[in-house]
Amino acid sequence: MSENRHGMLIVLSGPSGSGKGTIIKSLLAERDDTVLSVSMTTRAPRPGELDGIHYHFVTREKFEQTIAEDGFLEYAEYNGNYYGTPEAPIRRWLNEGKNVILEIEVQGAEKVMDHRSDLVSIFITIPSVEELERRLRGRGTETDEVIRGRMETARYELTRAFRYQYVVLNDEVDLAIDRINTIIDAESMRYSRMENTILEVLKYVSTQ
Ligand code: ADP
Ligand code: 5GP
Repeated sequence: MSENRHGMLIVLSGPSGSGKGTIIKSLLAERDDTVLSVSMTTRAPRPGELDGIHYHFVTREKFEQTIAEDGFLEYAEYNGNYYGTPEAPIRRWLNEGKNVILEIEVQGAEKVMDHRSDLVSIFITIPSVEELERRLRGRGTETDEVIRGRMETARYELTRAFRYQYVVLNDEVDLAIDRINTIIDAESMRYSRMENTILEVLKYVSTQ
Protein backbone atom coordinates (compact mmCIF):
# COMPACT_ATOMS: atom_id res chain seq x y z
CA MET A 1 0.00 0.00 0.00
CA SER A 2 1.23 3.49 -0.81
CA GLU A 3 2.98 5.34 2.04
CA ASN A 4 0.93 8.48 1.52
CA ARG A 5 -2.42 6.73 1.60
CA HIS A 6 -5.10 8.63 3.49
CA GLY A 7 -7.26 6.50 5.79
CA MET A 8 -10.97 5.85 5.19
CA LEU A 9 -13.71 7.07 7.46
CA ILE A 10 -16.10 4.15 7.99
CA VAL A 11 -19.49 4.64 9.63
CA LEU A 12 -21.04 1.53 11.08
CA SER A 13 -24.58 1.59 12.45
CA GLY A 14 -27.28 -0.92 13.32
CA PRO A 15 -29.79 -1.56 16.07
CA SER A 16 -28.51 -1.94 19.61
CA GLY A 17 -27.92 -5.70 20.00
CA SER A 18 -27.29 -6.30 16.29
CA GLY A 19 -23.70 -7.26 17.12
CA LYS A 20 -21.69 -4.14 16.21
CA GLY A 21 -19.45 -4.32 19.29
CA THR A 22 -18.81 -8.05 18.84
CA ILE A 23 -17.94 -7.65 15.15
CA ILE A 24 -15.71 -4.60 15.63
CA LYS A 25 -13.71 -6.25 18.42
CA SER A 26 -12.74 -9.18 16.15
CA LEU A 27 -12.22 -6.95 13.13
CA LEU A 28 -9.76 -4.73 15.00
CA ALA A 29 -7.85 -7.78 16.23
CA GLU A 30 -7.41 -8.84 12.57
CA ARG A 31 -6.63 -5.46 10.98
CA ASP A 32 -3.78 -3.22 12.10
CA ASP A 33 -4.76 -0.61 9.47
CA THR A 34 -8.05 0.18 11.25
CA VAL A 35 -8.91 1.86 14.55
CA LEU A 36 -12.14 2.58 16.41
CA SER A 37 -13.11 6.10 17.42
CA VAL A 38 -13.90 6.29 21.16
CA SER A 39 -17.09 8.29 21.62
CA MET A 40 -18.08 10.53 24.48
CA THR A 41 -21.35 9.69 26.25
CA THR A 42 -23.45 10.74 29.21
CA ARG A 43 -24.84 7.21 29.75
CA ALA A 44 -23.61 5.19 32.73
CA PRO A 45 -20.97 2.50 32.09
CA ARG A 46 -22.23 -1.08 31.80
CA PRO A 47 -20.50 -3.68 33.95
CA GLY A 48 -17.05 -4.31 32.47
CA GLU A 49 -16.95 -1.10 30.41
CA LEU A 50 -13.86 1.04 30.92
CA ASP A 51 -13.56 4.81 30.68
CA GLY A 52 -11.37 5.79 27.73
CA ILE A 53 -11.64 2.32 26.12
CA HIS A 54 -15.34 1.75 25.45
CA TYR A 55 -16.40 5.38 25.85
CA HIS A 56 -15.30 8.57 27.50
CA PHE A 57 -18.00 8.64 30.20
CA VAL A 58 -18.78 12.26 31.06
CA THR A 59 -21.42 14.45 32.73
CA ARG A 60 -24.02 16.39 30.71
CA GLU A 61 -22.14 19.59 31.64
CA LYS A 62 -18.87 18.33 30.18
CA PHE A 63 -20.67 17.08 27.05
CA GLU A 64 -22.44 20.40 26.51
CA GLN A 65 -19.15 22.24 27.02
CA THR A 66 -17.59 20.12 24.23
CA ILE A 67 -20.54 20.96 21.96
CA ALA A 68 -19.97 24.67 22.69
CA GLU A 69 -16.26 24.28 21.86
CA ASP A 70 -17.18 22.66 18.51
CA GLY A 71 -15.27 19.54 19.52
CA PHE A 72 -17.56 16.95 17.86
CA LEU A 73 -17.63 15.66 14.29
CA GLU A 74 -21.25 14.80 15.14
CA TYR A 75 -23.37 14.14 18.20
CA ALA A 76 -26.90 12.95 18.89
CA GLU A 77 -29.32 12.19 21.70
CA TYR A 78 -30.28 8.52 21.89
CA ASN A 79 -32.61 7.02 24.48
CA GLY A 80 -32.17 10.04 26.75
CA ASN A 81 -28.37 10.23 26.62
CA TYR A 82 -25.88 12.21 24.59
CA TYR A 83 -23.37 10.40 22.36
CA GLY A 84 -20.72 12.22 20.30
CA THR A 85 -17.63 11.65 18.16
CA PRO A 86 -14.59 13.74 19.20
CA GLU A 87 -13.16 15.26 16.02
CA ALA A 88 -9.44 15.82 16.74
CA PRO A 89 -8.26 12.18 17.02
CA ILE A 90 -10.08 11.27 13.79
CA ARG A 91 -8.27 13.87 11.74
CA ARG A 92 -4.94 12.63 13.17
CA TRP A 93 -5.61 8.94 12.41
CA LEU A 94 -6.83 9.59 8.86
CA ASN A 95 -3.68 11.63 8.17
CA GLU A 96 -1.59 8.74 9.51
CA GLY A 97 -3.28 6.48 6.92
CA LYS A 98 -5.45 4.55 9.39
CA ASN A 99 -9.05 3.66 8.62
CA VAL A 100 -11.30 4.97 11.39
CA ILE A 101 -14.55 3.23 12.34
CA LEU A 102 -17.33 5.34 13.85
CA GLU A 103 -19.79 3.04 15.58
CA ILE A 104 -22.69 5.48 15.78
CA GLU A 105 -26.48 5.54 15.61
CA VAL A 106 -28.37 6.63 12.52
CA GLN A 107 -29.09 10.32 13.30
CA GLY A 108 -25.38 11.01 13.85
CA ALA A 109 -24.43 8.85 10.86
CA GLU A 110 -26.79 10.80 8.59
CA LYS A 111 -25.22 14.07 9.77
CA VAL A 112 -21.76 12.79 8.81
CA MET A 113 -23.09 11.48 5.44
CA ASP A 114 -24.52 14.92 4.71
CA HIS A 115 -21.15 16.63 4.86
CA ARG A 116 -18.56 13.96 3.96
CA SER A 117 -18.69 12.44 0.51
CA ASP A 118 -15.61 10.23 1.07
CA LEU A 119 -17.39 8.20 3.72
CA VAL A 120 -17.89 4.42 3.68
CA SER A 121 -21.21 3.61 5.35
CA ILE A 122 -22.29 0.18 6.56
CA PHE A 123 -25.56 -0.84 8.23
CA ILE A 124 -25.51 -4.02 10.32
CA THR A 125 -28.79 -5.91 10.29
CA ILE A 126 -30.20 -8.97 12.04
CA PRO A 127 -32.07 -12.02 10.73
CA SER A 128 -35.30 -11.05 12.60
CA VAL A 129 -36.78 -8.83 15.31
CA GLU A 130 -37.15 -11.91 17.54
CA GLU A 131 -33.43 -12.66 17.19
CA LEU A 132 -32.61 -9.03 18.09
CA GLU A 133 -34.67 -9.30 21.28
CA ARG A 134 -33.01 -12.64 22.10
CA ARG A 135 -29.55 -11.04 21.74
CA LEU A 136 -30.48 -8.01 23.83
CA ARG A 137 -31.88 -10.23 26.59
CA GLY A 138 -28.94 -12.64 26.28
CA ARG A 139 -26.46 -9.79 26.76
CA GLY A 140 -28.12 -9.18 30.12
CA THR A 141 -26.99 -5.58 30.42
CA GLU A 142 -30.32 -3.71 30.24
CA THR A 143 -33.60 -3.70 32.14
CA ASP A 144 -36.87 -4.81 30.46
CA GLU A 145 -37.87 -1.17 30.06
CA VAL A 146 -34.60 -0.24 28.34
CA ILE A 147 -34.92 -3.31 26.07
CA ARG A 148 -38.45 -2.24 25.08
CA GLY A 149 -37.10 1.23 24.22
CA ARG A 150 -34.25 -0.24 22.17
CA MET A 151 -36.66 -2.51 20.23
CA GLU A 152 -38.79 0.55 19.39
CA THR A 153 -35.69 2.47 18.28
CA ALA A 154 -34.56 -0.56 16.22
CA ARG A 155 -37.74 -0.34 14.13
CA TYR A 156 -36.96 3.30 13.30
CA GLU A 157 -33.29 2.53 12.57
CA LEU A 158 -34.22 -0.22 10.09
CA THR A 159 -36.28 2.32 8.14
CA ARG A 160 -33.10 4.43 7.71
CA ALA A 161 -30.93 1.58 6.39
CA PHE A 162 -31.52 2.85 2.83
CA ARG A 163 -29.19 5.80 3.53
CA TYR A 164 -26.19 3.43 3.83
CA GLN A 165 -24.00 2.22 0.96
CA TYR A 166 -23.76 -1.34 2.34
CA VAL A 167 -25.94 -3.62 4.44
CA VAL A 168 -24.25 -6.49 6.27
CA LEU A 169 -26.33 -9.28 7.77
CA ASN A 170 -24.96 -10.47 11.11
CA ASP A 171 -26.38 -13.97 11.12
CA GLU A 172 -23.00 -15.45 12.08
CA VAL A 173 -20.22 -13.29 13.47
CA ASP A 174 -17.46 -14.78 11.30
CA LEU A 175 -19.49 -14.30 8.11
CA ALA A 176 -20.33 -10.71 9.04
CA ILE A 177 -16.63 -9.98 9.64
CA ASP A 178 -15.71 -11.50 6.25
CA ARG A 179 -18.34 -9.29 4.61
CA ILE A 180 -16.97 -6.14 6.25
CA ASN A 181 -13.37 -7.07 5.35
CA THR A 182 -14.51 -7.44 1.74
CA ILE A 183 -16.07 -3.96 1.79
CA ILE A 184 -13.00 -2.31 3.37
CA ASP A 185 -10.61 -4.02 0.94
CA ALA A 186 -12.68 -3.14 -2.13
CA GLU A 187 -13.29 0.46 -1.01
CA SER A 188 -9.55 0.97 -0.48
CA MET A 189 -8.99 0.07 -4.17
CA ARG A 190 -11.31 2.77 -5.57
CA TYR A 191 -9.50 4.98 -8.08
CA SER A 192 -9.85 8.03 -5.83
CA ARG A 193 -8.01 6.20 -3.06
CA MET A 194 -5.34 4.72 -5.37
CA GLU A 195 -4.67 7.90 -7.33
CA ASN A 196 -1.47 8.75 -5.44
CA THR A 197 -0.08 5.29 -6.21
CA ILE A 198 -0.71 5.83 -9.92
CA LEU A 199 0.78 9.34 -9.79
CA GLU A 200 3.94 8.04 -8.09
CA VAL A 201 4.44 5.46 -10.84
CA LEU A 202 3.84 8.09 -13.51
CA LYS A 203 6.39 10.40 -11.87
CA TYR A 204 8.94 7.57 -11.95
CA VAL A 205 8.16 6.75 -15.60
CA SER A 206 8.52 10.40 -16.65
CA THR A 207 12.04 10.63 -15.12
CA GLN A 208 13.28 7.53 -17.04
P1 ADP B 1 -24.30 -4.02 19.73
O1 ADP B 1 -22.86 -3.60 19.94
O2 ADP B 1 -24.75 -3.86 18.32
O3 ADP B 1 -25.25 -3.41 20.70
P2 ADP B 1 -23.35 -6.61 20.79
O4 ADP B 1 -22.08 -6.81 20.04
O5 ADP B 1 -23.27 -6.18 22.23
O6 ADP B 1 -24.34 -5.61 19.98
O7 ADP B 1 -24.18 -7.96 20.65
C1 ADP B 1 -25.40 -8.17 21.39
C2 ADP B 1 -25.43 -9.61 21.90
O8 ADP B 1 -25.61 -10.49 20.80
C3 ADP B 1 -24.13 -10.03 22.60
O9 ADP B 1 -24.46 -10.84 23.72
C4 ADP B 1 -23.39 -10.82 21.54
O10 ADP B 1 -22.56 -11.82 22.10
C5 ADP B 1 -24.54 -11.44 20.73
N1 ADP B 1 -24.25 -11.65 19.30
C6 ADP B 1 -23.58 -10.82 18.46
N2 ADP B 1 -23.54 -11.33 17.20
C7 ADP B 1 -24.21 -12.51 17.24
C8 ADP B 1 -24.51 -13.53 16.25
N3 ADP B 1 -24.14 -13.44 14.98
N4 ADP B 1 -25.23 -14.61 16.67
C9 ADP B 1 -25.64 -14.71 17.96
N5 ADP B 1 -25.37 -13.80 18.95
C10 ADP B 1 -24.68 -12.71 18.59
P1 5GP C 1 -24.86 1.89 23.55
O1 5GP C 1 -25.50 2.65 24.67
O2 5GP C 1 -25.57 0.58 23.24
O3 5GP C 1 -23.37 1.73 23.73
O4 5GP C 1 -25.01 2.79 22.25
C1 5GP C 1 -26.27 3.25 21.85
C2 5GP C 1 -26.19 3.76 20.45
O5 5GP C 1 -25.36 4.93 20.39
C3 5GP C 1 -25.56 2.75 19.47
O6 5GP C 1 -26.39 2.71 18.31
C4 5GP C 1 -24.21 3.33 19.16
O7 5GP C 1 -23.83 3.01 17.84
C5 5GP C 1 -24.51 4.82 19.28
N1 5GP C 1 -23.32 5.65 19.49
C6 5GP C 1 -22.19 5.36 20.17
N2 5GP C 1 -21.32 6.38 20.09
C7 5GP C 1 -21.92 7.34 19.34
C8 5GP C 1 -21.51 8.64 18.89
O8 5GP C 1 -20.41 9.13 19.14
N3 5GP C 1 -22.40 9.34 18.14
C9 5GP C 1 -23.62 8.85 17.81
N4 5GP C 1 -24.41 9.60 17.05
N5 5GP C 1 -24.04 7.64 18.21
C10 5GP C 1 -23.19 6.89 18.96
